[in-house]
Amino acid sequence: MLGQMMQQPLLISSLLQHAERHHGAQAVVSRRVEGDVHRYTYRDLASRSRRLAKALAALGVQPGERVGTVAWNGYRHLELYYAVSGSGTVLHTLNPRLHADQVAWIAEHAQDRVLCFDKTFLPLVASVASRLPTVRHFVLMADKAHMPADEPIPGLLCYEDLIDGPGDDHFDWPRLDEDTASSLCYTSGTTGHPKGVLYSHRSTVLHTLASSLPDALNLSARDTVLPVVPMFHVNAWGLPYSACMVGAKLVFPGPALDGKSLHDLFEAEGVTLAAGVPTVWQGLLAHVSGNGLTFSTMRRTIIGGSACPPAMMNTFEDTYGVQVIHAWGMTELSPIGTVGVLKAHQQQLPLPEQRALQAKQGRSVFGVDMKIVDEDGQELPWDGQASGELLVRGHWVLAQYHQGEQSPLVDGWFPTGDVATIDADGFMNITDRAKDVIKSGGEWIGSIDIENIAMAHPGVAMAACIAAKHPKWDERPLLVVVPRANAEVSREALLGFFDGKIAKWWTPDDVVFVDAIPLGATGKMLKHRLREQFEHHLLAKA
Ligand code: AMP
Repeated sequence: MLGQMMQQPLLISSLLQHAERHHGAQAVVSRRVEGDVHRYTYRDLASRSRRLAKALAALGVQPGERVGTVAWNGYRHLELYYAVSGSGTVLHTLNPRLHADQVAWIAEHAQDRVLCFDKTFLPLVASVASRLPTVRHFVLMADKAHMPADEPIPGLLCYEDLIDGPGDDHFDWPRLDEDTASSLCYTSGTTGHPKGVLYSHRSTVLHTLASSLPDALNLSARDTVLPVVPMFHVNAWGLPYSACMVGAKLVFPGPALDGKSLHDLFEAEGVTLAAGVPTVWQGLLAHVSGNGLTFSTMRRTIIGGSACPPAMMNTFEDTYGVQVIHAWGMTELSPIGTVGVLKAHQQQLPLPEQRALQAKQGRSVFGVDMKIVDEDGQELPWDGQASGELLVRGHWVLAQYHQGEQSPLVDGWFPTGDVATIDADGFMNITDRAKDVIKSGGEWIGSIDIENIAMAHPGVAMAACIAAKHPKWDERPLLVVVPRANAEVSREALLGFFDGKIAKWWTPDDVVFVDAIPLGATGKMLKHRLREQFEHHLLAKA
């Protein structure tokens, strides 16, 4: 027997419709590339998103085709979030911090049809435009007054012209199948190229609902939310969707992510909740403490992307009275998996024990299940001691990479590459990482790319790139090199060899020369052994 309730597909457009009808006067405030602060309401957002959807259709964008963005957090980017996904096409957010070659590779792999970008990224996009045969239209996210006088990209379109193009904002969001693809975000490949994670309307709406719960990000219509986490990183942890769903005021920082600019915006707009990686908060806290400031409205901060240092948590909580919500997730998880909010009996514990729990990555949000397994795939106990690879499954967990050939799943579970313990209360704690990657300031660095370049240097016999701990960036790449016999190779020459070949910030911080790199039985470099030996190398130098 079937239930007799309405069948309404879970669609991203419904979040926007809700915001317009029930929170229409709520504000969306954006610091712009143009330098000023722009403000409008959810009503305006909805109207302009409909116009944009019409304009994209007029450009000939077909259902399922990808519309790429290279943009900061701001209202135009938000309009693209809703217009593109809402109309059945796929929003593909590109990370502008990558090297131009990688940006081009990803846009090509995704087969983007339209590419919309902020003026900041005009030089980047112009440098790769001729290499993107699938892109039919390039759109500069600006008004007429800010369009370049020359035409750096042939046929470059003006975003505000597109919005003005349709005579009115009458547009009915299509009733899509809820499993329709909605957005696409590439993540670092641990082997080879980046991999695309293709979200659906259903997975996104379910993630939006669950991530807003009190024991998750705890969002409400009384909040003013500022996502520092970029909209090109896993949909800014879903905040552009969840803010609309709950009717929170949204504040976007645009390109100004330094401590002063952020703090000014927090205070001017009454921000109650902000979200970002630890590195961003370091800059903010340095500015606030260095200038004797406080947070007059900020109540909670969501910290994730890499582990929140206990000292940072203590400073936020004890000095500034800001609750830290420590969260763990992945691009493959839309991204939220666990959140470190205490249970009732844990709040009775002495403060140091509470903090120790909060420093863990947290417990599952409904919708994501997890387990830890040993090397044979056997599930390990939840005793806070046994550590093993963390596997997850759930409504918003990836089943297959975009155009991936093999399923990454193991018996229906997604292996995260993180190594963790889980305690009796279900608090997960990441203790190590099985995947061979480096995460610096919340951004991945491809160790394999770095090794391949180093190996091309005539003085290098063998090279391994490992994650070394760093006081500011959490991790930085360290290159371990076995020089060729009789070859002259210096640290400076090797580091200079990376110039132009990768993004500048991917260049290793230092080189360590060794006689040999330990190898396993199959000839693979045993990088964990190198990490044990050298992971404190940069701290020692700092
Ligand atoms: P990304 O796909 O870029 O979001 O990166 C996901 C990875 O970042 C995870 O698999 C972890 O290795 C790491 N990560 C994310 N959040 C945390 C956290 N709170 N603590 C430690 N590592 C984290």
